[in-house]
Amino acid sequence: MALIVQKYGGTSVGSVERIQHVARKVAGFRAEGHAVVVVVSAMSGETNRLIGLAQAISETPVPREMDVLVSTGEQVTIALLAMALHEIGVPARSYTGGQVRIHTDSAFMKARIEAIDDAAIRTDLDAGTVVIVAGFQGMDGDGNITTLGRGGSDTTAVALAAALTADECQIYTDVDGVYTTDPRVVPTARRLPKITFEEMLEMASLGSKVLQIRSVEFAGKYNVPLRVLSSFEDGPGTLITTEELDTMEQPIISGIAFSRDEAKLTLLGVPDVPGVAARILAPVGAKNIEIDMIVQNVGLDQTTDFTFTVHRNDAKAARAVLDEIRGALGARDVISDDKICKVSVVGVGMRSHAGVASQMFQALADEGINIQMISTSEIKISVVVDEKYLELAVRALHTAFALAEDHVNADA
Ligand code: ASP
Ligand code: MG
Repeated sequence: MALIVQKYGGTSVGSVERIQHVARKVAGFRAEGHAVVVVVSAMSGETNRLIGLAQAISETPVPREMDVLVSTGEQVTIALLAMALHEIGVPARSYTGGQVRIHTDSAFMKARIEAIDDAAIRTDLDAGTVVIVAGFQGMDGDGNITTLGRGGSDTTAVALAAALTADECQIYTDVDGVYTTDPRVVPTARRLPKITFEEMLEMASLGSKVLQIRSVEFAGKYNVPLRVLSSFEDGPGTLITTEELDTMEQPIISGIAFSRDEAKLTLLGVPDVPGVAARILAPVGAKNIEIDMIVQNVGLDQTTDFTFTVHRNDAKAARAVLDEIRGALGARDVISDDKICKVSVVGVGMRSHAGVASQMFQALADEGINIQMISTSEIKISVVVDEKYLELAVRALHTAFALAEDHVNADA
């Protein structure tokens, strides 16, 4: 008998019929003898609807009141799921975040979980009751309702699994796992039976939106075995763990991630003296603009071209900063380009293999794709290319690293 925390996302509880379907799934696990804690999101579209109501009244609603408002979506689904379980003869009790004592800090709309008091949950589980917890919400030290940021139900589930030392945290969603790349771009993309937390973090931060990034960090930190599966089809899903596969089985590359939301800015002809990089990036940071890739190289004339990328939404603001500081820095010109994208190959296997970068660059060259920027980490190589080549680049790399073939990393 195992203790399982299951989280069902918005589409999985998007209608009365779907809530009844979830109830039958949960009943099935309980019938097998497992203790089950269920975390649910709001019905699909509900959180957006609530935010829309707030915006119709105020351009700048007070964050505390936003949390009172948006937390109601999850309160609806926990009650309905409890009722659906009762209808099929399964004892169940629903709890809001505050009731089950998910303590958070007071950062409304982006609160962090500080502690979970699991006494009530344990008592229910010992009595054979299914415990249903509202995702995405908690309570601060003064008893205020808080929420954890969009997609926060994943983090609720992982935090509960960590607090209860559950055997597994299962995230049920509308896809059946984590794929080698987006199947809408590469139809032969394959579900990965297993992926490491590190790889998942890279994939998630690069736009593979299966899980809230914070939940993956949390699961990695507390070593919670995490599984992504479909609520609509049976299957093993993708297991996210700390364990790497045996080196014999470990594919060098696990996936190709990409992001369309990039923009590139360059200061041309900056005098090459100490402190320049800091003087460029400090005012950008002061505007709360996150910088992603940076490339700088010194030319023969003792000036450098300094290039960096930001989120496309921040491109205008970043450009304005550069236009402002250009004169003081003595830079020749500023150029910006938001018709770019980032494509990355991710895999823990590249730690122990040489030649991944050249294989990647050759595959792009064979398609006539020009690389504008390159950056690397221990388990990732990213390139910036013209956005019109995004699909072609992803497909070429998926083929070059033979990701469609499942001779490696197959289900055990
Ligand atoms: N309902 C919240 C949202 O839409 C939390 C979640 O679904 O995880 O962001
Ligand atoms: Mg979600």
